[in-house]
Amino acid sequence: MLVFKFGGASVRDAEAIKNVASILSLYPSTKLTVVVSAMGKSTNKLEEIVHALESKNHAVFSGLVDELEAFHLDIMAALFPEKHYKIYQTVEELFDGLRKRMEGPFSENTSFEYDQIVSLGEVLSSQIVSSYLIEQDFSVRWMDARKIIRTNHTYQEGKVDWTKTEQLVQEQLIPAFQDANIVLTQGFIGHTSEGFTTTLGREGSDYTAGILAYCGQAESVTIWKDVPGMLNADPKYFANTKKLEAISFKEAIELSYYGASVIHPKTIQPLQNRNIPLYVKSFLDPTADGTIIHASSSKDHLIPSYIFKFDQALYSFTPKDFSFIVEENLSVIFGKLSDLNVKINLMQNSALSFSILVDQKKVKREELLHLFQHEYEVKYNENLSLVTIRHYDDATIQQVTEGKELLVQQRTRHTARFVLK
Ligand code: ASP
Ligand code: MG
Repeated sequence: MLVFKFGGASVRDAEAIKNVASILSLYPSTKLTVVVSAMGKSTNKLEEIVHALESKNHAVFSGLVDELEAFHLDIMAALFPEKHYKIYQTVEELFDGLRKRMEGPFSENTSFEYDQIVSLGEVLSSQIVSSYLIEQDFSVRWMDARKIIRTNHTYQEGKVDWTKTEQLVQEQLIPAFQDANIVLTQGFIGHTSEGFTTTLGREGSDYTAGILAYCGQAESVTIWKDVPGMLNADPKYFANTKKLEAISFKEAIELSYYGASVIHPKTIQPLQNRNIPLYVKSFLDPTADGTIIHASSSKDHLIPSYIFKFDQALYSFTPKDFSFIVEENLSVIFGKLSDLNVKINLMQNSALSFSILVDQKKVKREELLHLFQHEYEVKYNENLSLVTIRHYDDATIQQVTEGKELLVQQRTRHTARFVLK
């Protein structure tokens, strides 16, 4: 069995869905578990719908639901020209259920409500894609991921129960291949032991592919994307990007830790545990080699990768009593930062000062200054950028630092990081 994952962009309109069918037709005699995300930007729209419900704004709610429905109906009109197709009824029922939520109660637990509603994007998408594939004579079984992926009760960020999920995959998903070549299911969503819907965190469909591959002992996973593979930098910020031909699981985790965003960071771990290779391939050029992520690290060092983070703020804390920065005051500083829910991108200390780099927009500056003002002198510097280079050399460093003011630098054997103004 192979696992394929098609993200929102690969099912964003009727043309894209037809392209999915043509990719699947390249694998006529392979057992495929196909994971799909919500179409286009539907998940964002569903998040707005949750906010409208929460604030009891009927007019906004209805307007947004109408837009989401029209978006899906447009796509269906191009895929299923006649209204007799059963999919029209299925979709109508899903939207009826959504509209009824305006009349029902909205519980205190917003995350719970969020998951019950936002999961609809994947349900719609998987129903539409599977109906289309069946129309095109593919042998498909639609499977409800809310019966397969078991999580705990952490709504919006469900933690997978691996033992139970593996059991469900073995009992329900694998046997479905006895009478279908393709099992088509939803990314991003799961269920609790009581059967409530959970989600796995935004962009979690990649992770679903990893979970199903692990539990179903797949031969490989392929994530189909609108880029030719994993690139060594984000093309938005960097000219002349290069495709990475092969990298190790460990390198993929390192890159995502530093902020590379091609695959969801949780995806690699289950694959690494069972040594299942992950391919990142282009849905526009499906026969081209993409990137393979696997156990071997022999090619990790061949191409330097660049990861950029903008809108960074550097805060430096100096104890007012001129005490050294040692364990005691570090633990006080960390305690306060964790109270503020600050996520640190980089840190550094000297004898008398401790510095952190954070996402400027995520930190409430005044609150932070207030919390530290009695014991520390706090200085800050905003509008900085952080550049991380994996497998750097002098030329690559020169390339990113040239003409910039360098505030902090850190180098280890394979990684160089620069805070620049
Ligand atoms: N549809 C979900 C999201 O947009 C999951 C995903 O696309 O991976 O976050
Ligand atoms: Mg997506």
